[in-house]
Amino acid sequence: MKRVVLFSIIVVAVIAAAPAAAFAAVHAPRARVQDYFSAADIARSQDYRGLAYFFGFVSLALTLVVLPAGIAAWYHQRAFGLVTNQLPVFLSDTAKATGFSIVAAAVVALVYIVLAKKLPRAWPFAVAAAGCALTFAAIFILPIIYEPAFSSFRPVDPATRARVIAIAAKEGVKVDKVLISLQSVRTTTENAYVSGLGATKRVVLYDTLLARLKPREVDLVVAHEIGHVKHNDILIGALLGSAGVIAGTAAIWWLLRRRRLLVFIGARDHADPAVLPFLAFFIAVATLVTLPLQNYVSRHIEAAADHAALVATNDPQGAVMLEADLARADLADLTPNTVVEFVFFTHPSTMERIQAALDYEAQHP
Ligand SMILES: [Zn+2]
Repeated sequence: MKRVVLFSIIVVAVIAAAPAAAFAAVHAPRARVQDYFSAADIARSQDYRGLAYFFGFVSLALTLVVLPAGIAAWYHQRAFGLVTNQLPVFLSDTAKATGFSIVAAAVVALVYIVLAKKLPRAWPFAVAAAGCALTFAAIFILPIIYEPAFSSFRPVDPATRARVIAIAAKEGVKVDKVLISLQSVRTTTENAYVSGLGATKRVVLYDTLLARLKPREVDLVVAHEIGHVKHNDILIGALLGSAGVIAGTAAIWWLLRRRRLLVFIGARDHADPAVLPFLAFFIAVATLVTLPLQNYVSRHIEAAADHAALVATNDPQGAVMLEADLARADLADLTPNTVVEFVFFTHPSTMERIQAALDYEAQHP
């Protein structure tokens, strides 16, 4: 514990010292700056340097804080038996995820700069259209290039597949690809999801889930996921994401018309690559600010999938058992703080899902 405290103090001290050291270096020259540079030179340099140091400092601070925090979170999960892999696997997963983020950010930045330069007037429409196209393309391609980087997959066994097809038929949906994600080498948590669009659409079940849950519970998990397919939730997600892209582009267009803002960020115009740090900052803030709204919508979508599962299986008692089992296996927050729940919960809480099953039972005796 003492080591953790010492390490934290060093990290904080380094973070605190970086801007002070940079400031001292700029403001303590031996020869007089005024003898060699005009006031305009100095002012222009300071205009640029202030924010340049700020962004450099932020990225340094983020690297110093985020990686140790990620490793600490991994150890914490391991202490509670949720993790089955070794630290190198966690680090290589983190490196891969960072690599994907950098590529995605580079593509977005390049598309923005090229369109903003080529279309001085129509760029907001072109950027919004390209953003929507990229959103759909990403959701289409993630199951093929992103998910395999973090898990191996195998086709589901014929018996389970037959159960999945039968449940899908009950919900009036055709399901083609059903895969098992070999997650037991990484985690003990139990999960399932649907992803992809069109040709890449799939239902994925964790091997951890199939290994431990009773068939009756697996049916309910499958029925929930098929509920997402039935409600076209991936498509709805892509459309909502596109709406966010359009609103974000409109906001950026409106902001970058302000001369004072351009001067503040040190950019000639909206197509100057110097606006990119501002765009990154805007996207980060917009994502954070709209997180409660995104999760509010997500909880409704998840509750609807739960309801579809209850209708398809007519097994509310099984649903209660499943929610309790999943909550125990995943160490779910059983007594969530209202604010935490409102901001961060992508699914209704365990007790809400149990209550929904009990309500369904009461309505269908
Ligand atoms: Zn769901």
